[in-house]
Amino acid sequence: MNKERLLNNLVEMLKIHSPSKKEGKYASYLVELLEGMGASIYLDEGYLQYGGDSPSIIAKFSGDIEGDGITLAAHMDVIEPNLDVEPIIEDNIIRTNGTTTLGGDDKGGIASIVEVLRTIKEEKISHKDIYVVLTPCEEVGMLGAKHFNWEKVPKDMMPSKNMIVVDNAGAAGIIAHSAPSKYDIEISFQGKKAHAGIEPEKGINAINLASYALSRMDIGRIDDLTTSNISTISSEFPSNVVPDMCRVTGEVRSHSEERILEIIESYKKICEEAVEKLGGIYKFDYKCDYPVLKPKDDLNFAKEFAKIYEEINVPAELKVIGGGSDSNIFAKQGFNSIIIGVGMYKVHTVDEYLEIDELFKTTQAIIRYIKKDEQ
Ligand SMILES: [Zn+2]
Repeated sequence: MNKERLLNNLVEMLKIHSPSKKEGKYASYLVELLEGMGASIYLDEGYLQYGGDSPSIIAKFSGDIEGDGITLAAHMDVIEPNLDVEPIIEDNIIRTNGTTTLGGDDKGGIASIVEVLRTIKEEKISHKDIYVVLTPCEEVGMLGAKHFNWEKVPKDMMPSKNMIVVDNAGAAGIIAHSAPSKYDIEISFQGKKAHAGIEPEKGINAINLASYALSRMDIGRIDDLTTSNISTISSEFPSNVVPDMCRVTGEVRSHSEERILEIIESYKKICEEAVEKLGGIYKFDYKCDYPVLKPKDDLNFAKEFAKIYEEINVPAELKVIGGGSDSNIFAKQGFNSIIIGVGMYKVHTVDEYLEIDELFKTTQAIIRYIKKDEQ
């Protein structure tokens, strides 16, 4: 690994503006870079379905060793404000001048992957197939991953199932392997309008209906694996009108999708009871935003990678996380992902910074993982 080269490449990439839906320029830069290193490239056009400007990139570096290879993944979009980043390097830290995010999330991950590939090429390391998967729009509901047209990918470009996603906040050594599924819910309560002063008894107050139902729902931490939240409640009428409409939205997330459906059923039942008691009607909609992420191999891959970290004296920690990412979406395609730390902190804020040592450690670990196949 060439630390200076890694840092220079990272700084160069941090200066390319690539907010969600506008990663096109950065994607072109990466395609050129990867092609220049000898990769075969496949571009997925899922972005056409959501008005983005950047394909998802699959790059393949064919190996000279037989067997299932590895996929290295990261996302190309960054959180705004991120225009005209001025990266400042101070000892072990890369930060900004405080007016923009750094975009180390996830350019730190991409820089790490690029340095892995350069090192492998430079040192002529024998390896199995290495695939790189780079997505747009991870930060906005994983749009790139969700719209990926896997059925169009040629067979010889289909990435290996074991996937290292270089996109975790926190130190190197963190290996996330499980994350919950999330369902979004939307409930509309419909009552009946009436003059609130003259004949309120002719009305059915939709806000009252919603309140009755919400106050009976189990919300928040439901059990070890499950949480729920109500996040909006909207209804606005003049004070002399009994409101006939109230809309409520929220989410339920759990490491068990069965449990999510159970909770949703219990909410529906409560809404049913509310309209039975107070009148009116309700409409309950829900949809899966992303499925559960869990290891498909009894944690073997995660444990194997933990051993690699420990071999280079980085304490490793297997972790269950609370949020979704591209890995949740890719899990549906059979990918077995771990999400590893790359030294990013305070992500999504203008105080974002990256610890250079941690970036180096994770890069070194990936190189070592790939090198293990060499005889
Ligand atoms: Zn990220």
